Amino acid sequence: MALKALDIYKLLPKKNCKECGDPTCLTFAMKLAGGKADVDLCPYLDDQAKAVLGATTRPPIRPVKIGVGERSFTVGEEFVFYRHEKTFYHPPGLLVRIEDTLTEKEIAGIAMRVRDESFTRVGTELRFNGIAIENTSGSVETFAAAVAAVENVADLPLVLISRSSDALCAALVHCGTYRPILHAATAGNHAVMSGIARQHGCPLVVKDGTLEGLAATVRNCCAAGVPDLLLDTAPASLGDFVRKSTAIRQLAITRTAPELGYPVYVDSATADRQDAAIALGITKFGSVIVTRPLSAASAKAAMTLRQNIYTDPQKPIQMNPGLYRIGTPGRDAPVLMTVNFSLTFFTLEGYLEATRIPCFLLIVDTEGLSVLTAVAAGKLSEILVRDSIKKFEIEKEVDHRKLIIPGYASPLSGRIEETTGWKVLVGPRDAAEIGEFLHEEWSKQKG
Ligand code: SF4
Repeated sequence: MALKALDIYKLLPKKNCKECGDPTCLTFAMKLAGGKADVDLCPYLDDQAKAVLGATTRPPIRPVKIGVGERSFTVGEEFVFYRHEKTFYHPPGLLVRIEDTLTEKEIAGIAMRVRDESFTRVGTELRFNGIAIENTSGSVETFAAAVAAVENVADLPLVLISRSSDALCAALVHCGTYRPILHAATAGNHAVMSGIARQHGCPLVVKDGTLEGLAATVRNCCAAGVPDLLLDTAPASLGDFVRKSTAIRQLAITRTAPELGYPVYVDSATADRQDAAIALGITKFGSVIVTRPLSAASAKAAMTLRQNIYTDPQKPIQMNPGLYRIGTPGRDAPVLMTVNFSLTFFTLEGYLEATRIPCFLLIVDTEGLSVLTAVAAGKLSEILVRDSIKKFEIEKEVDHRKLIIPGYASPLSGRIEETTGWKVLVGPRDAAEIGEFLHEEWSKQKG
């Protein structure tokens, strides 16, 4: 059971020396209680106190940093089983698998695609996270050459997959200080794999088909001095993956089996139904997901799902309120008003751009609520609209005084007219109909 801040404080040396980076022992204790600090930061704790505190204050799932530099990412450090209990913090990395039997040109082509491909959704750039290189050939030299071919074109987080310790060592020569994930330590080879991971400072995947086997190999790797581990459940089917991954999350966050408190590694490339395997990996606690190269449609679906699952359900994604321009609007351009829920903004923006009618978009602050919710909750009001018109000085931008409001805000139309002095036009409820509305209704207004 987790200790409270005051219980933790009682166990601290109370020197208030700030060596842990906190101004007082009490603030350090509060951070420990929230799982936001590591007991090792205090140099004055004895081993017994560290053991007591470490077992209860470390995140139940260890954070593991993958790669170095701009494209590095952290996985793990999760605290809840259900997303709605708080939030999921660290989105899984999607890494594209390359087999070393491909030609150098083919390898470079896939690596460049992973390096460069991105798409923007609700204002966020979504990308693949890295590359998993598999020693399909079984040859030490071929594997090393494949890793070198990837390294030549992309500084990306890597997974090196091989059963041969010689192949891994030969490949690591080309990785410099980039700390790739090594796959995998098993009951049979954990000593040698732990030695390589420790020597190069790499995270290590532990692979076993049973939770007991995973826990035993984790204990061995930890004892050998490898702290950063991931768990590959070697699932026999998608259902098997869900069962094991769910059990691992439950046992980890309740601290029932601390040996399973590590991020989960998923190889969707070996599944028959890869898209389904990726979706289950994202929704059922996967942290590093390896895929075959994906079609554009599958890539977008995977990244969109990941973005949706890993947004904070208690904090709607918000736009900054303000006056936005679509194209280069003139003084007779339409002015549309909507809320600062980002999905509303980006959906409407897309449809407005498609109309090719330059216009102004007034975004008012409804604390990220959608139109319907904001109207029902009283967050969208005539006063807010009036104040936003003034604050963002729209009257300096256009000669007319006509405001198009969302269809779901129609109950406010009369009050907005009275309060602002602007003529209100009630737009469509569905953003997809805004083009037709502007072409027909706005043209009549102008005419
Ligand atoms: Fe207190 Fe230890 Fe931090 Fe010093 S390093 S302030 S003794 S918790």
